[in-house]
Amino acid sequence: MTQQLLIEKLASEHRLSEEEYRYLLEHQTEEGAKALAGAADQVRKQIYGNKVYIRGLIELSNYCKNDCLYCGIRKSNRSCERYRLSAEEILSCCKNGYRLGFRTFVLQGGEDAFFTDAFLCDLLRHIKQTYPDCAVTLSLGERSEKSYQALFDAGADRYLLRHETADASHYSRLHPPQQTFSDRMHCLKTLKAIGYQVGSGFMVGSPFQTTAELAKDLMLIQEFQPDMCGIGPFIPQKDTPFADFPAGSVTQTCYLLSILRLMIPNLLLPATTALGTLKSDGREQGILSGANVIMPNLSPNAVRKKYIIYDGKHSDRAETAEGLEILKQKISAIGYCIVTDRGDKIAI
Ligand code: SAH
Repeated sequence: MTQQLLIEKLASEHRLSEEEYRYLLEHQTEEGAKALAGAADQVRKQIYGNKVYIRGLIELSNYCKNDCLYCGIRKSNRSCERYRLSAEEILSCCKNGYRLGFRTFVLQGGEDAFFTDAFLCDLLRHIKQTYPDCAVTLSLGERSEKSYQALFDAGADRYLLRHETADASHYSRLHPPQQTFSDRMHCLKTLKAIGYQVGSGFMVGSPFQTTAELAKDLMLIQEFQPDMCGIGPFIPQKDTPFADFPAGSVTQTCYLLSILRLMIPNLLLPATTALGTLKSDGREQGILSGANVIMPNLSPNAVRKKYIIYDGKHSDRAETAEGLEILKQKISAIGYCIVTDRGDKIAI
């Protein structure tokens, strides 16, 4: 089957076999990528129009008990200057974000034991009471079922936990032995069963990754059917064991975004910061390939340069009215519109 026929099949049936995904990935041409992006763009417009949802990212803490080999805030990185935000600081980020028009707050951080269920539940109740029209997304890594349930009961709406790679042996090359693919998947299934809107996702171009792993990632998304899917290029961080590996590609990431849009038409699909870091118009390219979400950073300026999961992390300063205005202009220049909205998934 040719690339064009596979694109048509994906657009109409919303599923392919692993071999077919692999074929698409191995026979990527400029023309094919354009056709794919065009089809993805059309599908997204039918469901979400030209709306781009924004989420305010608040990076709570860069303390982490884990040691992911790719990540700059891994436990073993001695040169990482650690910080954690207080409840007051987090609430003041929300206040600023709300004023600017954010209606989703994403609380992300390393796996930091300081953030107990009691602390987080208090914080969640506070945020939801103050901003009942906002959604709260958590991205705090692996926790127990009891903890996920308590956080959900306290008002958390969504949870982001990328599966990182769908191949267990590849997973074990990116993480120390204590962290396993099966634990990660167990968490994702638990989150879904509790009732969270769940986001998974993977890195593109991570060390040792081939098209075989990427085809598996696509199969996992097809089977798991998450509400969101965060994908971004791997970017080396100088104080990690993967410092000398090359970064993933913007083109390949955009190609995958288009595939994901056709696979799950109403998927919430961010054009990630990592895309914008590798290329000044990377996120715009992501939107034009089918993405419909952008997650600007609302963290206080003083801690921002410490949350270095990878080098050169881009910031659009959208936590300021001026910065957000510039982002809005960039997005409207390509024919889309940033809206003030919780940005829930639209049912189809
Ligand atoms: N501790 C949380 C949040 C992790 S940071 C968790 O476990 O979910 C969010 C995402 O950043 C990770 O899921 C990973 O996919 C991505 N990331 C980490 N290091 C990266 C790197 N060097 N390049 C690109 N993406 C990276």
